[in-house]
Amino acid sequence: MSNTKRNITVKVVAGYLIVAILAGLAVWYIYNQVIAYSEIAQSNTENNQQLILVSEISTDLNESENISRRLIQTGNEDELDLYNAQIDTIRNKLRELEQTYQDIDLETEVDSMSKLLEKKTENLKELVALRDTDRNTNYYSKALAELRNIDASFKDYNYENRFRNLKPYQKDVLIKWLEYSREDNAEQITSQRLDSLVQSVKRVLTDLEFANRQFQNEVIQKENQLLNNDMIVNQQLRRLLSGLEQKERENSVQRAQVFQEMLNETQTIIIFGGSIIAIIIIFFIINIIGDITRSQRYRMELEEAKEFAESLLARREQFMAAITHDLRSPLTTVMGYTDLIQKTGLDEKQKHYLTQIKKSSQFILHLVNDLLDLSKLEAGKMLIEKISFNPKKLIEDTINNVIPAEKNKDVEIKVEFSPATNAQIQGDPFRIKQILANLISNAWKFTEKGHILISAELIEKQADDHILKLKVKDTGIGISKAMQENIFEEFSQENSSIEKRFGGSGLGLAITKRLTELLEGSIKVDSEPGKGSEFVISIPVKKLSGAREEIEKEEQEPEITMPKKFENIGLSALIVDDEPGQLSLTVELAKSMGFEIDTASNGKIALEKLSEKEYDIILTDIQMPVLDGFDLIEIIREQEELKDLPVIALSGRTDVSKEVYSRVGFNNNLLKPYKPGDLKKAIAELLEIRYRKEDTIEKSKSEKLVGDTYDLSEIFEFSGQDEAAMQTILQAFLEGAGESLRELEQAYKNEDQDRMGKLAHRMLPMLRQMKARSIVQILMKIEERQPVKPAEFKDLKNRLNSLMADLRTETTV
Ligand code: ADP
Repeated sequence: MSNTKRNITVKVVAGYLIVAILAGLAVWYIYNQVIAYSEIAQSNTENNQQLILVSEISTDLNESENISRRLIQTGNEDELDLYNAQIDTIRNKLRELEQTYQDIDLETEVDSMSKLLEKKTENLKELVALRDTDRNTNYYSKALAELRNIDASFKDYNYENRFRNLKPYQKDVLIKWLEYSREDNAEQITSQRLDSLVQSVKRVLTDLEFANRQFQNEVIQKENQLLNNDMIVNQQLRRLLSGLEQKERENSVQRAQVFQEMLNETQTIIIFGGSIIAIIIIFFIINIIGDITRSQRYRMELEEAKEFAESLLARREQFMAAITHDLRSPLTTVMGYTDLIQKTGLDEKQKHYLTQIKKSSQFILHLVNDLLDLSKLEAGKMLIEKISFNPKKLIEDTINNVIPAEKNKDVEIKVEFSPATNAQIQGDPFRIKQILANLISNAWKFTEKGHILISAELIEKQADDHILKLKVKDTGIGISKAMQENIFEEFSQENSSIEKRFGGSGLGLAITKRLTELLEGSIKVDSEPGKGSEFVISIPVKKLSGAREEIEKEEQEPEITMPKKFENIGLSALIVDDEPGQLSLTVELAKSMGFEIDTASNGKIALEKLSEKEYDIILTDIQMPVLDGFDLIEIIREQEELKDLPVIALSGRTDVSKEVYSRVGFNNNLLKPYKPGDLKKAIAELLEIRYRKEDTIEKSKSEKLVGDTYDLSEIFEFSGQDEAAMQTILQAFLEGAGESLRELEQAYKNEDQDRMGKLAHRMLPMLRQMKARSIVQILMKIEERQPVKPAEFKDLKNRLNSLMADLRTETTV
C-alpha cells in the first residue's frame, strides 16, 4: 500500500519534472526565435531606411540636375552655391547609406558614385566657364554691327548711344580707338583714308566674328561633350542607385522568406512539442489512475481486513468480558465462603486445604483481571486520565497495597523519594499505580532475602513538562540476559519451574510495558541472575503550578474527619431529588443513620407528601423540574405548621452563596458532591442528636471499591458500609445515567446547549462522588455551556459507557 503511494508520488514528481523540462526547452526555443524575429524586424526597418535614403539620393540627384541646368542657362553664381550644397547633401546621404550597411561593403559603390559626382561637378564648372567665355566673346559681333551703323551716320559721335550695349571697358577701348583715329588723323586723314580705316575695322571685326563663330562652335561642341559626360555620369549614378535599390528589395524578399521559414519551423516545433507533452501527460495520467485504482483496491481490501480484525477483536473482547464476568462472580463467592469457612473451627489439614483453595482462587482472579486488561489494551479501549495526584503518596499507597502486612520473609523495603516528588502532578495515577504494583509485586515475589528499593524522581524537562522516573530494584533471583529480551511478551516466564515456585501467569510485564507505552513512557530492565533486577520506568507528566496545586491538593486530600455512626434515632426524613442516583445516595445515607425515608422527584410531589405526613427533616435538591427547591422552601416557610421544619439544601450550584440559601429559609446547605460525614454532621447539628465514630473501611474492601476510573469508597460510606445499600445506589445511578446520556446525545444532536447544561448539572454530583474525574471535567464544560467538539463528546460517551459497564459488573458481584 505504502509502496503504491510512494510509486504514485514518484510518478507525479517525474511527470511534473519532464513537463517542466519540456516547458523550459520550449521557453528557451521560443526565446531564441523571438530574438531572431526581432533581428529580422530590425533589419527590415534598416532596410526601409536604406530604401528611403536611396530614393532621397535619387530625388536630390534630379534636383541637382535641375540646378545645373539653370546654372548653365543663367550663369548665376548663387545657383552654383546651391548646386554645390546639393552635391554635398548627396555625398552625406551616400556616406550615411554606406554606414547603415553592416553586412554589405558599399565602399566601392559609394566611392565610385562620389567620384562620378565630382566628375559631374567638374563638368558643370567647365560648362559654366565655357558659357561665360561665350558670353564675353559676343561683343565682337555686336561691335561689328555698331560699326555698320557708323557707316550710315558716322558724323554723329554719339558713342554713348551707339555703344550703349557694350561693357564699359569694351566701350572705352572702342571709343578711345575711334577718337584717336578721328582726332589725330582728322587733318591728315582724308575721308578716303577714313573709309579704308572703316573698311579695315570691318575686316578686323569680321575676322573677329569669324573667329568667334568658330569659338561658338567649339563651345557648343564642348557643351555637348560635357552634357554627354553629365548624362553618362547621371546614368552611372542611376544605375548604381537602382542597383542598390534592387539589392535592397532582394534582401527584403530574402528576409521575408527567412521569416516565413522560421515561422513554419516554430509552428512545427510547437505542434511537435505540444504533442509530446500531451502524450507524456496522458501516459502519466493513465499510469497514475492505474496506481490510484490499485491503491484504492488495496485500501478497500485493507479496510475489509481491518473491519474483520476489529470485529474479531470486538468479539474477543465480548468473549473476554463475558468470561471474566462469569469467572469473577463465582470466584468472589468462592473466596467469600472460603473466608467464612476459615472463621469456623477447622483442623490444621482443613486450614491447609482452604489456604490452597484461596491461593488458587486469587490466582484465577488475578489472571482474569490481567486478561481483561490485556484485551482492553489490545482493543485500544484502555482510556487514559489526566488528573492531578501526588506521586509520593501514590507510591506509598501502592507499596502498602502490594506488600503484605505480615511479612513472611526477610526482605527489607526501602523507599527513596527526591523532594520534588512530593508535589501535585498531572497524569494517570491509576495506570501508574498499576504499573508500579506489577513491578513491586514481582520484586516481592522473586526476592527471598535482601531488600527491595523503590525510588522516585521528578525530572524537569521544559517548563511544566517533567519525567516521573520510578525504579524498583531487588536482590532477588534475577533474570538471564536471554530472558530479558522476552519478559515483556505475553505469557513469558523464565522457565516452568518459576511458575511452579513463584506462581504467576507471565502477563504482568506485558501489561506493564503496554501501559507504559500508552502513557508515552518507556521501561528498561537491568538484571543479573542470582544478584537481582532493576526495572526503571520513565513517564512524561505535567507539574502543576502553585495555585492550582493547592486547589487540587484540597480536592485530593479532603478533610480527614472520620465518618461517624448514628445511634438509633427513629426519625423520618423527606428526600427530594430528580436524579435517581443522587436520590438513592442520600436515601441510603439517611437510612444508615436510622431515618425512616420518603422520597419525591420534585417540589410539587414533596408538598403533597408534606400535606400527608409529618417529617423531622427535609433534604432537597435545588434544580428540579415542575417546582424547584427555592419555590419549595418559599411555600414551606409560608405555612404555619412547617415554618420551623429543618430543611437542608443539597445542590451542585456554585453560583448561589450560603447567605442566599439562609435568606430564603434553608437551615443549611451542602454543595454536591458532599462528603457523607458532612451531611451526617449537618443533620446531627440541626436535629441535636448524638453520633459516634464509625469504623474505617477494611483495607481489602476499600481496594475493591477503587476501580480504574472511579472510586466507590464515598458511596460505600453513604451506604453506611452496607454492600446491599451500595448496590441499590449504583443501580439507581446506572438507570439515571443511562437515561441522562441518551438525552444528552439527543440534545448534542439538536445543538441544544441549555438542555445539555442542565443534564450535565444533573449528572455531575454522582460522578463527582465516584471521583470519575475525566468525565467530570468534560461535563463541567458542558454545564458551563462551553462548546464541546465531536471528538470530546465521543470521548465522554466512551468513558461514561465504560464506567457504566464496570459498575454493572460491580453491582452483580
Ligand atoms: P508473572 O505473572 O509470571 O510474574 P510477569 O510478566 O510479571 O509474569 O513476569 C514475567 C517473568 O519475568 C517472570 O515469570 C520472571 O521469570 C521474570 N521476572 C519478572 N520480574 C522479575 C524480578 N523482579 N526478578 C526476577 N525475575 C523477574
